[in-house]
Amino acid sequence: MVDFSFTDEQELFRKAVREWTEKNLPIEKIREMDSQGRIPHEVLKSMGEMGLLIMTAPQEHGGTGADWVTACIAAEELGYADVSIALPVLWLVESSWGYVVDRHCSEQVREAVIRKAIKGDAFIGIGSTEAGGGSDVAAFKSTARKQGNDWILNGEKTYISGTEEAKRLGGGYFVIARTSPAPPEASHRGMTGFYLPMNAPGVEINKRYDDMGRMAISTGGFLMKNVKVPDSNRIGEVDKGFYLTMEGFDTARILIAAVCTGAARRALDIGMEYVKERKAFGKPIGKFQGIQFELADDWAHLEALRSLTFRTAWMMDQRYKEDRFTPLEVSKMIAACKLIAPHFAFDVYKHAMIWLGAYGYTKECPLEMGLRGIMSYCVGAEGATNIQRTIIARELLGKEYIAYK
Ligand SMILES: Cc1cc2nc3c(=O)[nH]c(=O)nc-3n(C[C@H](O)[C@H](O)[C@H](O)COP(=O)(O)OP(=O)(O)OC[C@H]3O[C@@H](n4cnc5c(N)ncnc54)[C@H](O)[C@@H]3O)c2cc1C
Repeated sequence: MVDFSFTDEQELFRKAVREWTEKNLPIEKIREMDSQGRIPHEVLKSMGEMGLLIMTAPQEHGGTGADWVTACIAAEELGYADVSIALPVLWLVESSWGYVVDRHCSEQVREAVIRKAIKGDAFIGIGSTEAGGGSDVAAFKSTARKQGNDWILNGEKTYISGTEEAKRLGGGYFVIARTSPAPPEASHRGMTGFYLPMNAPGVEINKRYDDMGRMAISTGGFLMKNVKVPDSNRIGEVDKGFYLTMEGFDTARILIAAVCTGAARRALDIGMEYVKERKAFGKPIGKFQGIQFELADDWAHLEALRSLTFRTAWMMDQRYKEDRFTPLEVSKMIAACKLIAPHFAFDVYKHAMIWLGAYGYTKECPLEMGLRGIMSYCVGAEGATNIQRTIIARELLGKEYIAYK
């Protein structure tokens, strides 16, 4: 029998997260974070106390051992609460990459960053993208050379979320670097994952971007100049880092989809409240079908997206717990979620903004923060839209149809 309901525990968890967001993330606080360009440390500490940070990490590592459906419930509630989506971004970057690092790291790395990040006292992010491009991971130029029991890292990473947070709170990044020459037929082989602490000698933050949105989390870049890290900072097996990077993208993308469902629901709620009150031609504008139909379409698509997202999160749980689906089957579904969710959420914000007329275009109205924030996921944070299409087409047609091979 198919059962699409959440468990009582999951419903209670949703209620607790909602109460937390209502108390800690009122709209005035979001505006303050957006204009000041930072998330207060006490907000992260409070999330840590609630067990919200890297919550899928096992209890023995400091997490709550939550499943991915439960993590998506948190993502949805955070996406609803923080219209700017800065806090959901920070949360999901840590939740996904922290989870993958924790799964494959040494006890030293766990002590150095994971346990602290779970309490809100450190930041862990992803340092994948390079100046030459982010989509073609196999073409990255950063290198890691073995020297005794250490590795020497060189290269540059750019458009990286959380560089200022990592500097301020402590912590670092999962980075991927080439460790062996690539065989011509498989350029993705020969790359290895490492934990790079931002305070390691030779790490230099060299950029801070002035982004369009999600202002309360920084985006920057850093150089690695002969950075020495011990072998215990290696994440996973030598030359297998590409696969860990793909695992991390999968975990991030499902959470993005859930954040976007929350964000879209918020825009719809703001829009619905307004169209019931605002009058034109003697009637509430919600009485006009021109508005009703778009609103009904958005709601229907939102329900479809939520079903796809939570079904995919459930598949992810089966993959991790029972090996029931292959990683590629799950990746295809996740790519479908990431393909649809940000563009859909962006459209709902745009529609609601238009229903709100001139007021919708002002900074007094929270919708503009949503539009600016969501756009980062349309552009490509955690993987460009066309890359999601490439993954889906590869799984549908077969590897021999990959365009760039
Ligand atoms: C706000 C923000 C935060 C970010 N944070 C991080 C972070 O924390 N860590 C990190 O590592 N990266 C981060 N990124 C970078 C992000 O991962 C990259 O933007 C993304 O991977 C795409 O890379 P690119 O921007 O270099 O675009 P490119 O790879 O240069 O692609 C440019 C365009 O070409 C298209 N394209 C590329 N290849 C193909 C193809 N084969 N077929 C069809 N179209 C194609 C893409 O869809 C895209 O539209 C962030 C980006 C943003 C916007």
